Amino acid sequence: MASPVTHIPANTAASANTAFRSALDVVREVEPRVAAAIGAEIEDQRASLKLIASENYASPAVLLAMGNWLSDKYAEGTAGRRFYAGCRNVDTVESLAAEHARALFGAQHAYVQPHSGIDANLVAFWAVLSQRVESPALGRAGVRQVNDLGEQDWAELRRELGNQRMLGMSLDTGGHLTHGFRPNISGKMFDQRSYGTDPATGLIDYAALRATAREFRPLILVAGYSAYPRLVNFRLMREIADEVGATLMVDMAHFAGLVAGKVLTGDFDPVPHAQIVTSTTHKSLRGPRGGLVLCDSELAEHVDRGCPMVLGGPLSHVMAAKAVAFAEARRPEFQDYAQRVVDNAKALAEGLLRRGATLVTGGTDNHLVLADVSGYGLTGRQAEAALLDSGIVTNRNAVPQDPNGAWYTSGVRIGTPALTTRGLGTAEMDEIAGLIDTVLRGTTPAPGSGGTPSKAGYRLDDALRDGVAKRAADLLAGFPLYPGIDLA
Ligand code: PLP
Repeated sequence: MASPVTHIPANTAASANTAFRSALDVVREVEPRVAAAIGAEIEDQRASLKLIASENYASPAVLLAMGNWLSDKYAEGTAGRRFYAGCRNVDTVESLAAEHARALFGAQHAYVQPHSGIDANLVAFWAVLSQRVESPALGRAGVRQVNDLGEQDWAELRRELGNQRMLGMSLDTGGHLTHGFRPNISGKMFDQRSYGTDPATGLIDYAALRATAREFRPLILVAGYSAYPRLVNFRLMREIADEVGATLMVDMAHFAGLVAGKVLTGDFDPVPHAQIVTSTTHKSLRGPRGGLVLCDSELAEHVDRGCPMVLGGPLSHVMAAKAVAFAEARRPEFQDYAQRVVDNAKALAEGLLRRGATLVTGGTDNHLVLADVSGYGLTGRQAEAALLDSGIVTNRNAVPQDPNGAWYTSGVRIGTPALTTRGLGTAEMDEIAGLIDTVLRGTTPAPGSGGTPSKAGYRLDDALRDGVAKRAADLLAGFPLYPGIDLA
């Protein structure tokens, strides 16, 4: 029997239904095609087996908190210190979101304005750089504020700051573009170098990382990932950062929900160890699409200058939704959710391994599994497309030292936050592992030009595809998404 979706309390389901129906009526009056697209999206999401590791389903309370007139207000600055008049209600929602975030994560300071995860990272880079400039111990004597600098100072500073160094996890071992990937602005702003994983185990090679840090002496050591299926020891990371005088920044965009839900604690909770922590709010944390920065008090004033230094005016309606989402995540049931996300990922991993799949690192400790599909004779792109045809939504992803590069890839990343919200459990994960394995075994590369197999084209038997899609649909039928909301 399906377990209820925990983030729609039964007593509000009818109100939520009325609210969404009424909202669509109002939109339909002006532009019916937009209303139709919004209505179609819930049906698409209901119909798909969503295993994209970075997606989730926000609660009606979170979604509804975003659709209102807070959106109309300009509020550059921070609560109580605005560049615009009339911000008292924005001050309220921003303060509430920050208060909930501090309590949820045990952080000294929270900045809830970033519009997305990448923006949160830019705010963090700016904060660490400006702290370096303004700190008498580290930076230029007599400079209290970057704003105090004259033209000559700026010319010198540009040379100095341009030479600052960042050490982050390489993209192909699971890091994010903004962790110093050469073509990204982070790799252009900073003199960058990467650390990676041990090719034999797939695990972060802390000894090699320490050696690189000692030699390279970065200003910022970035930890965190988009596609690493194991735990990261942040206590050890801080030790390495301290040894070389670096600031430890952790990007917990992917696993923030597991931190909030107290599944990642001790050495694996970044907040007590890093000076600055960034996140998205819409992945495992199950909030609105947005970003978040947490930091030590010493960095707070630098982080708070994110807008207007790096960011445009805050999205006040999204900050309201962040306050609601953080309040939800402070409830005991969110800890149960976070634990089930990990239990489900482990069950999925075990189900795949039992059927002969190859997983990077041989399994998972978090919310995602990274399958190397080369054993099935496929690229990640072919696997992703064949799975999608069969009603299973994943995304292709490079594996370490990937011979197929970042476009075709050899891997598929599979995550459990969304389906766990929907109520699926370990038995369903095992069945899904079987469906994935069936599709991948039934897919073959199409012949390419010059007699070599194509990296994109593939062949998949129609009957096999339809059978899996039917089974996926039957499985989902037992776990209604947004029960009680009927827009038809
Ligand atoms: N940081 C990490 C580790 C991510 O995985 C992502 C998104 O995939 C981001 C940052 C960027 O988040 P956003 O798309 O909200 O800018």
